[in-house]
Amino acid sequence: MTNPIPPVSVVTRQREIREQYVLMLPERLAALAQAAGDARRLSSLAHGLIGSASTFGFTELADAARQLDQATRALVAGEEEAATRIDAALALALRLGEQVATSPVPDVSEEETSARAEEITVYVLEDDPVQARELVAQLRPYGYHAIAYADPDSFADAVRTCAPEAMLVDIICGPDTDAGSDIVFTLSAEGPVPPTIFLSGRDDFEARLSAVRAGGAGYLVKPVDPAVLAERLDQIIGRDSARPYRVLLVDDDALVAAEYATALGAAGMEVEVLADPVRAIGHIRRFLPDLLLLDNRMPGCSGLELAAVLRQQEGMLSLPILFLTADEDLTDKRLALDLGAEDLLRKPIKNAKLVEQVRARVRRARQLQAMMARDSLTGALNHAMVQEHLATEVARARREGEPLSFAMIDVDRFKRVNDEHGHAAGDRVLRSLSRLLRQRLRRSDIVGRYGGEEFAVILPRTNPQEAALILDNLRKAFHAVGFRGGDDKLFHVTFSAGVAGLTDTGDLASLNLSADAALYFAKRAGRDRVHVSGSISASA
Ligand code: GH3
Ligand code: MG
Ligand code: MG
Repeated sequence: MTNPIPPVSVVTRQREIREQYVLMLPERLAALAQAAGDARRLSSLAHGLIGSASTFGFTELADAARQLDQATRALVAGEEEAATRIDAALALALRLGEQVATSPVPDVSEEETSARAEEITVYVLEDDPVQARELVAQLRPYGYHAIAYADPDSFADAVRTCAPEAMLVDIICGPDTDAGSDIVFTLSAEGPVPPTIFLSGRDDFEARLSAVRAGGAGYLVKPVDPAVLAERLDQIIGRDSARPYRVLLVDDDALVAAEYATALGAAGMEVEVLADPVRAIGHIRRFLPDLLLLDNRMPGCSGLELAAVLRQQEGMLSLPILFLTADEDLTDKRLALDLGAEDLLRKPIKNAKLVEQVRARVRRARQLQAMMARDSLTGALNHAMVQEHLATEVARARREGEPLSFAMIDVDRFKRVNDEHGHAAGDRVLRSLSRLLRQRLRRSDIVGRYGGEEFAVILPRTNPQEAALILDNLRKAFHAVGFRGGDDKLFHVTFSAGVAGLTDTGDLASLNLSADAALYFAKRAGRDRVHVSGSISASA
């Protein structure tokens, strides 16, 4: 089965949107006629018309609006003779608009609706044709379009020509025992390679080792369970089928926004539409989108300005932004990219193309987040990610009127651990503490490594007293863990913690400071204890 026919509801919905647009067009045209003589207002209205008319497939009207927009801008820039061009373009736009408004609404084509499922290309290196065919068939239901190659050289050529999203490689392929891992190793010496999962009939150490050396992201022993394989693939490419992609669409033109939202929704994404850019920040904190789709020209605040404001906000530095614009302006594109925008897409954009662009960006962002968010030694979140999460959680706690606690943990006399038992043993202690924190805390709690031997924990919906109790139990558990140093001697390590609760007036900075001060207090009071900010004594 190729492209499944989109559900009727999507086609119907898009037809409704289009009908509404045509219905409201006379109102827009009247506004345009009224604005004659006011070049700035004309330009702004014409611009809106470019975006909407082109989105709904009325290209001639969009072209007339574009001429009008260009002429008005020329006049504003001081070209007096542009006035006659304005008159002509305005008359043309009004006439074509009238035509659209009085003709029957054209049908929405299937191609335009694009409810196609996400399909991700994966290359397979497998010399057994039966297994290869089976793999390709088994992966299809999971949204993976697998292309199989039987020999390492043609596989490598394909990767060099057009890299897939991920690779599945049979280690033993052809006459050489390690041909599969060898070719991946060769490719990785040439440049970055897509994440790779090795498939093998061998479960021995040698085979696993060669896979690790070739940079494998996974290793599965044949026969592979397709569900397990799909899950591993989802993981390594950052796709999470349990968590739909979330898109916040900011566009002041409600009908254009509805059109895009319907297309993205039909592709399985959760979409919220916001007409007023000024309310975007609050909306983002509440909805937590994976991606922001911004119309560039909006009244009150342009998309570029909004992006600049967002980038100043804590927790919003890494939110991917895609711009949508009817502008031809290349300086805007440069400005957008300077602001860290993913790209600037031109209206009109085919729904299928929009869906594809959004999906690719969200997927990459999620993948990056999973990779960069973690500290490589302990696997805990890094400092920046903890602060991003903390900003989000503080906002949520405020909104929901729930308590929130933040704790800082510092290993006691860690310098001495390193000195007496060696740096490698010190590293083991840190990894062990990180694991303990992540295992013993609740799923909703967030653990990060703040640097060195300091960790941070965010405990949502928890007051400081409860948080202190939880941490004190962790403290006892950690104290009980025995470590062996380079000299094989058994030793124990302790930590101190400072806990702070979100207060009515406090912000992110004061929460950090209070937790830090509480930690300092715990250290001064003799270490191996948890202190709550603002409380009198420390528990030991
Ligand atoms: P205190 O109880 O006051 O916290 O004493 P401390 O010795 O733990 O504190 P200090 O901050 O003076 O020393 C921290 C030490 O942690 C110094 C540094 O060498 C060590 N350290 C930081 N990062 C790592 C790491 O990744 N691995 C290892 N093994 N040691 C680290
Ligand atoms: Mg320390
Ligand atoms: Mg320290």
